[in-house]
Formats: sequence, C-alpha cells, structure tokens
Amino acid sequence: MTTMNWLQEVEKRKDDLISTTQGFLRIKSLLDPSTAREGAPFGEGIREALDFVLEQCKQAGMTVKDVGGYAGHAEFGQGSELIGVLSHVDVVPEGDGWTSPPYAAEIVDGKIVARGAIDDKGPTIAAIFAAKLVKESGLPLSKRVRLIFGTDEESGWQCVKTYFETEEMPTMGFTPDADFPLIYAEKGLTDLTVLQTHEAFLGQQLPSADSPAAQLLELASGRRMNMVPDKAEARLLPMGMGAEELIQAYEAYLNDSGMKGKAECSNGHVLLHMEGVSVHGMDPGKGVNAGTELIHFLGTLTLDARADQFVRFTEQYLYRQHYGEALGISHHDEEMGPLTLNTGVIQYEADGDALFQLNIRYPHSLPFEKWSAIFKERIAQAAFVFEVVEHLRPHRVDPNHPLVTTLQRVYTEQTGLEAGIIAIGGATYGRSLDVGVAFGPLFPGRPDCAHQRDEYILIDDLIKATAIYAQAIYELAK
Ligand SMILES: [Zn+2]
Repeated sequence: MTTMNWLQEVEKRKDDLISTTQGFLRIKSLLDPSTAREGAPFGEGIREALDFVLEQCKQAGMTVKDVGGYAGHAEFGQGSELIGVLSHVDVVPEGDGWTSPPYAAEIVDGKIVARGAIDDKGPTIAAIFAAKLVKESGLPLSKRVRLIFGTDEESGWQCVKTYFETEEMPTMGFTPDADFPLIYAEKGLTDLTVLQTHEAFLGQQLPSADSPAAQLLELASGRRMNMVPDKAEARLLPMGMGAEELIQAYEAYLNDSGMKGKAECSNGHVLLHMEGVSVHGMDPGKGVNAGTELIHFLGTLTLDARADQFVRFTEQYLYRQHYGEALGISHHDEEMGPLTLNTGVIQYEADGDALFQLNIRYPHSLPFEKWSAIFKERIAQAAFVFEVVEHLRPHRVDPNHPLVTTLQRVYTEQTGLEAGIIAIGGATYGRSLDVGVAFGPLFPGRPDCAHQRDEYILIDDLIKATAIYAQAIYELAK
C-alpha cells in the first residue's frame, strides 16, 4: 500500500497555499443586496469570491459548475458514490476596531489576519489544496469527490437550499466550518412565537381583579430569540398604589435580589428598567434574563386581570425554567444533553398582544411532535397559541458510521491527538448534508475568533488542516 506524507506535500506548496489564501481573503465577500443581479443573488463581492474558487479548481483540472451564483462545485474522481466537502465563501460584516485592515490579509505573528480567515475562507482554500493534492497524487479513487461552495451561510442558507434542489446529495461528507476533532450531532432548533391576542384573553371571561395596585400598560424585552435578553422595560399605571410607593417597592426588590435596574416616574406612569446578562440562547442558564426577572417582580404586585394572568403564566412556565421543566417538556439525552428553552423576546401590550418568542433546542431522542403537543396543551390553558417561526430537526450521524470513524482515525494519525466526537446545541453547515459532520478547522484550545475583530488563522494550523483534509478526502474516496 502507498503511504503518503500529506503534511510534507502541503509544506512543499506552502507559499502557494498562503498567497492563494491571502488573495481570496482580499475579496470582500459580504452580502450586498444593492449589487445583486441574476447570477449574483447575494451581490458582486460574493460572486467574485465564488468565481475565484471555481477558477482555482478549474485550473487544477476539476469539473466545475456554477449553480446560478447560489453555490458552485468542483468535482474529480470516479464511481457512483460521492464524497462532499462543503464550505462557504461569504463572510459577516467586519465591524470596528481592527488592528490591521480586515481585507488586507496581512501576516502578523504567523497569522493571516482578515475577515473570513477562520470562517470560512481559509478552510475553503485548505479544502481546495487538499483536493488538488489528492488529485495530483494519482492515487486511485473509487468514488467521486465534490467540493461544494455555499455563498450565504452567514445569512439564510438559501445557497444550500437552492443548490440541493437540483444537485446530487453526497453519499457522505464533511464541512470544514467549525471545530476539530469532529461534530457528529446537533440538537433540533425551534424558534416559536407564543401568543395571546387581546380577543383570546377576553374570550376566557376571567373575573376582573379586585382593586389592583397598578395596571401593566406595556412590557418589552429582547430582540432575538437565540439570545438571553439583557434589558427589559415595563410601564405601569398606578392605581391602588401611588407612583412613589411603586418605585420604592421596586427599589427595595432590586436591593434584596441583587438585581440591577431603576424606576422612574414619567407622565403619571411608572417606568421600570431591569438589567440582565446576555448570553447565547443555547445555554440560557448561564445568563440572567432581564425580561423574566422583571416579571418576577411584577408577581409581587396585585395587577389588572390580564397582567395577572400574563405574570402568573411567565412565573409558572418561563421564570428560570431553562429546561422546560414546568411545561412538562424537559428531557435529558445521554449523548446530546438536555432540551433547553430560552425566552428571547417578550412583548406585552394591555390592549394588544401578549407574546413570547422562544428558542427551544432539543436532542434527537425527543421527537418534536411529542414535546410540541405537550407544550401546545399547557399554554392553551392560558389562551396562548404558538406558531413555529423556524425549525431545524436534530442532525446526527451514527458514531459508528465509517464517515465518523475514518475522520477520527485521520485526525489522530495527523495530530497524534485523541479524536473525541462532539455533540452540540448549535447548528453547523454539516447539517445541510444528509450524512454530514463538521470537521475542523479550529483546533482544540485555540480561541474562537470567528465573527470577531482581528479574525485570523494561524499559518501552521492552515497547513495542518490542509494535510488532514487531504488524507480525509483520500481515505473517504479511495
Ligand atoms: Zn462559517
């Protein structure tokens, strides 16, 4: 059998690898609707980046195809089965505070610094060079290899949706767009709107409250379902209690609870502000939800009938209920961990809607149909209904699947490190493949600089990743 020293082969092409990566990073491949056109649905920058990678592959003798500017691919090898390597050429906006220009791709301390360096343009070039190495090696392959380039991974994934409407789904594949060693399982992701209209409230014909201390006029917290909100604001109309008294009660509450916030009087109303701690919605227990914490205070007051129901509903089902316990949907999976629930947005208007926007992430052993039926029944008791805004089913490849075991072996052979496999609560590009995992490029212990200022890839890591991908492509396709 032939043994290739993949790392040595990459080292020989090091200068070319670096300069090609730099050239690619200098294209500002940012979503730009103002230059969108037929064949360039996400604008000229992304179009240019797609052309760049297709040209690289074409020069290497691969068969390339452009799928309407939504995505493209480059193929080589032979056989009925297809190995896919899926990456993306678009980037997120650069933001401020860079110490070297975000599209200059300067080399600083052994790093290439640029927007997209680690996510995902550096790894895209690594995959292309890896494929070129396999192709040039002349080693026999029994499968076809296809590099697939997406163009709007950072926004709506319209690229892969459109691409797979007409193009072949790989037998199996990986995406170099997350972490090493390997991510084989991802939770299901659900964004829900939970709504009680004013009519639905009235339809319950609840008795009106006895001498309320105040009426809740409105409450607002959060803007994104997948973030724990760090701000909340409520407006109260003093009734049984005076404005000063309400303010004092709130201040005393803040004092006792150690929460941060303030109260003020404005036009005869009392405004309450609460501050929390924002974290990603995949792990809501690590943050402090300003919205539900503010409502917890409102629970100490006697409010008008609608607010009373709204507050009790929140207290019972959402206040510090990060795992859906009181809703009866909590579930812990050995492999993938617990169902998590984040209350990302809360909006209440006395004469309008009361709504929550929730991000629920669930493991594969708990079917969506099962938990959503329980959820629906629970919230109906308070005249709430829900609507699914977005739903991605759980994604998992059997840990014994040859895709997983082969990549684990390759990783260990190339790095000398153990290749544990990872289940996550987030979503990687890997889930757009039927049988797909995320495989690199970020090595364990490296800080994740994706989407941040001074994003970079270490040149040593770029080289190492290229060698890993080369062996991976070969082993999967041989
Ligand atoms: Zn990415």
